[in-house]
Amino acid sequence: MAPPNLLAGGILLAAGIICLVVAVVVWQMRRSSSGAIPLIVLMGALTWWDITYALFWADVPGPTPYFWLDITFIGVTIVPTAVLLFVIQVVQGERWLKKPFLLALCLEPLLINILMWTDPWHNLFFGGKRDLNTASILDAGVASWANIIYSYFLVGVAFILLARAVIRSKGLYRQQYLTILLGMGITWMGSLIFTLGFNILPNADNTPFFFTLTGLVFAFALLRLRLLEIVPIARDRLVDNMHDGVMVVDNHNRLVDFNPAARNAIPELKIGEPAGNFLKATTLLARNIPQLDEVHTEVTLARTPPTYLDVRISPLFDRQRQPIGKLIVWRDITQLKLMQLELKDLAGRDAVTEVYNRRRFMELAQAELHRTTRLSQPMSIVIADLDRFKNVNDTYSHQVGDQVLHNFAQFCMRTKRKKDLFARWGGEEFIFLLPETDGNEAFEFTERLRRLIAETPSLVGPYSITVTASLGVAPLSSPQDTLEALLSRADQAMYSAKDRGRNCTVLWQNDWASNKNETST
Ligand code: GH3
Ligand code: MG
Ligand code: MG
Repeated sequence: MAPPNLLAGGILLAAGIICLVVAVVVWQMRRSSSGAIPLIVLMGALTWWDITYALFWADVPGPTPYFWLDITFIGVTIVPTAVLLFVIQVVQGERWLKKPFLLALCLEPLLINILMWTDPWHNLFFGGKRDLNTASILDAGVASWANIIYSYFLVGVAFILLARAVIRSKGLYRQQYLTILLGMGITWMGSLIFTLGFNILPNADNTPFFFTLTGLVFAFALLRLRLLEIVPIARDRLVDNMHDGVMVVDNHNRLVDFNPAARNAIPELKIGEPAGNFLKATTLLARNIPQLDEVHTEVTLARTPPTYLDVRISPLFDRQRQPIGKLIVWRDITQLKLMQLELKDLAGRDAVTEVYNRRRFMELAQAELHRTTRLSQPMSIVIADLDRFKNVNDTYSHQVGDQVLHNFAQFCMRTKRKKDLFARWGGEEFIFLLPETDGNEAFEFTERLRRLIAETPSLVGPYSITVTASLGVAPLSSPQDTLEALLSRADQAMYSAKDRGRNCTVLWQNDWASNKNETST
C-alpha cells in the first residue's frame, strides 16, 4: 500500500474543484458557444479523474484497496475522446459530429473500463503486474498499452486538425485556434517534463494535472472568444427580421437555409432542393459566376401580377476560407418597378390625347424598323393632319378643340389594328406605323380611315363637330431605308394631300424622289 501523499492529493482536489466550477460555467453558456458540450464532458471527466485520484492519494478508505484507482479510469479514458470532440466541433462545426461517429468514439472507453474491471479473469489489463506503490503502470497488460496508444492517436488527430485550422484561418479565429493549440501543448510538455523526471505532483502520475491545465486553456479560449459565437447569433436575429429575402445554397446550389422573408415571397421553398426550382435565375447565375465574384441582377418572377426582384449573389467561405456555397439576397422591388414603369409610360404619353407622344413613337418605331428589316417584311407610315383645325378653335374655343383632338385620337386607337402603332406627332398631326403592310394595303387602310373620320362627328358637350384629315402614306422602300427618310416621305405625301384639296389620301410615289426639286419649287 502506498503511503498517503497529501500534497499530491491536495493539488488534485483543488484542480478537480476548479474543473467542476468551469464545467458549470460552460454549462450555463452552452447555447451560445460551439464546442461547449464536448468541453463540459472534458471538464466533467477531468473533475472525476482529479478527485478520484486525490481520494486515492489521501488514502480515503474505499470498498477495495484499488477502488479509487479503478474508478479513475472512467475519467482517464473519456478525456482524450472529449479533447478530440472539442477540437472537431470548434474547427469543423457540427458537420463531422454525426451519431454513428459519436457512438464509435464511445466504444473504446467502454471496452477499456470493462477490461479493467474484469482483469482478474483474463489479466489483459494489468498483466498481473499491478502494484499500488507505483505512480503509474509503466509495464502493464496489452489492453492498457492499447489504451495509451489509442489516447495518443486521438490527441494527435486533434492536434493535426487544429494545426491545419491555424494555417487556413485568420484574425480572431486564428487567435482562438492558437490558444487551443497552446492548451494541447501543455499536456505534451507535461508528459515531457514528467518523463525527464521532474515531478509537480511528487511521486504521483502528473497527467491529470497537466490535462487540467489544458482543459482550463480550452475553457478560456471558448469563453474569452465567445464573441465569435455571439456575432453569428446576433446576425441570425437580424437576418430573420429582415424584409429582404435571404437564401443560402451549398456548392451544388441546393438550398440549405432561408429566412422568413424568403418564405413569404416564395412559399414553396424547401431545404435540400435545388434553389433553381424556386428562383430560376439563381442556378444560371450561380453556375456561371466565378467563385469569387458577386453578381447583382434584376429578376422578374412570371406571376400575375409579375414580381420584380433585385438579386445579389455572393460566394460564401468557411472559417478556413474554403468556398462552401453562396448567399442570395433579394429585395422585392415590385412597387418601385411598377412606379418606374408608370412614370416611363406617363413620360411617353401626350397629356391632351392620352396616346403616345412623338418621343415614345420614335423609340418604338426604331425598334419596329429593325425587326421589320431583319425579317424582310413590308411596313408603312401614315401621317394625318386635321384640316383647317384652326377654325375649330376659332369657332368653339381652344378647350373644345382639345376635346376634339382627344376624341379623334381615341377614335384612331379604336380603328387601328392591334399591332399598329399610333401617336400624336404634334399639334393636330398624328402618325401611324403599320407593320407587315405594304404601300397598297396601307393606302386602303388609310382611305377607309379617312372616310370613317369624315363620317363620324366628334361629340363635345352640346356640339357635334365633324373634322376631316389629309393623310400621307409612305411604305418602306428598301432594307437600307431609314426612319427619318420614311417619315419625310410620309410628310411629303400628306402635304401633297393638302395640295389636292384636303380630306384625301396620297400614297408616296417612287418617282417623286427623282422629281424632288421639281415638286418642291
Ligand atoms: P390645314 O392643316 O388644313 O392647312 O389647316 P390648319 O388650321 O389645321 O393648319 P395650321 O397648321 O395653320 O394650324 C394648326 C392649328 O392647330 C393651330 C393650332 O391652334 C391648332 N392646334 C395645335 N395644337 C393644338 C392643341 O393642342 N389644342 C388645340 N385646341 N388646338 C391646337
Ligand atoms: Mg392642320
Ligand atoms: Mg398641322
